[in-house]
Amino acid sequence: MTDTAVQAAPFDLEKIRADFPVLKQMVHGKPLVYLDNAATTQKPWAVIDRVHKFDSEEYGTVRRGAYFLSEGSTRMYDEARKKVAGLLGTPDPNEIIFTSGTTQAINLVAHSFGKAFVKEGDEIIISNIEHHANTVPWQVCCEERGAKLKVIPVNDRGELILEEYEKLLNPRTKIVAVNHVSNALGTVNPIRQIIEMAHKVGARVLIDGAQSTPHMQLDVKALDCDFYTFSGHKMYGPSGIGGLYGRMELLKEMPPYVTGGDMIQQVTIEKTTYNPPPSRFEAGTPPISQVIGLGAAVDYLQGLGLDKIADYEHSLLEYGTRKLSEIPEIRIIGTAREKASILSFVSDVIHPHDVVTLLDQDGIACRGGHHCAQPTMQRYQVPATTRASVSFYNKYEELDALAESLRKAIKLFS
Ligand code: PLP
Repeated sequence: MTDTAVQAAPFDLEKIRADFPVLKQMVHGKPLVYLDNAATTQKPWAVIDRVHKFDSEEYGTVRRGAYFLSEGSTRMYDEARKKVAGLLGTPDPNEIIFTSGTTQAINLVAHSFGKAFVKEGDEIIISNIEHHANTVPWQVCCEERGAKLKVIPVNDRGELILEEYEKLLNPRTKIVAVNHVSNALGTVNPIRQIIEMAHKVGARVLIDGAQSTPHMQLDVKALDCDFYTFSGHKMYGPSGIGGLYGRMELLKEMPPYVTGGDMIQQVTIEKTTYNPPPSRFEAGTPPISQVIGLGAAVDYLQGLGLDKIADYEHSLLEYGTRKLSEIPEIRIIGTAREKASILSFVSDVIHPHDVVTLLDQDGIACRGGHHCAQPTMQRYQVPATTRASVSFYNKYEELDALAESLRKAIKLFS
């Protein structure tokens, strides 16, 4: 039975859950307990219905046709850009570039900012707890430009060691790229401080926001960051859409990443001139329906209130942490003082892959693996972890079910 001391959801939880049709189902005869929200989130009817209506009644190409459907689509597409700008906290929607997600957004910056600003002998800083999407593009950028990659170490709790970060910074540092929330550990990084310190040496900062945008109120202008990324499928929207906030003065200086139609001013056989941002970075026909769906997801999140979401999810995370800490065979990896949404753990008794298979038998969806963060796994000397990640639609009872199922699995292997 769930503790009575926990904070009740600040919204009608059953009503919220009814917004997500997938949550109603039974898996292997048990009610689905969806705890893989860090990998991807489920969609509310508001998103499903919006995309369905758009595709069945309103669909047309954007930016080109001077006819009813195309004009309508273009207007809705631009509207969605404004919604995302509002969510992230920029008054200028042209600072939002749509990409397929965070991976492509970081590749865009690594390639384009790299080409414009990174020279031989320069330095790029990442951290030891980055997703591969915020590691590999910078390795490639360094290889191509003759720059050096430096890494901020973490302590045993999974917190970046800021004294070590300070030592890495110098006038050769061109960009610092760190996540806001670690997908492997759940650490919330002190990005305001990280940005301030980088700016003091003239470096730019990219924040990988894949794991933060669905969970907390953001304000890229107040944070003063240069780039901030997001993924639609992690914020209750469609997959295949996401993007980048970029400071306009930088975007204007950056060359295109992908070239082709829609991003040009004029093309002759000899030479092409490019559109200003964001169009310069959105070559080709964009994922129109997905953008419209993302706009609906933003409305949904804002309707609930990001502060309320953050409060309730924090309470769920604390509750889950307590429940798992009561199981002696389980060790939590990532015990930072500031955490969001993610509970990563290992057990000497049973491998994460076996854990998730057994959890699945009880209808519980968790992720087992390296979470595309192999350097993080190496740091904590584990090949993989099991990860439970919560959303505002989760219940305390589901964390009870997780703990109970884990105890059963451990008993089986002991
Ligand atoms: N960065 C972080 C912190 C992530 O958690 C993920 C996805 O798990 C990514 C980047 C990559 O996002 P996407 O696959 O949506 O491009």
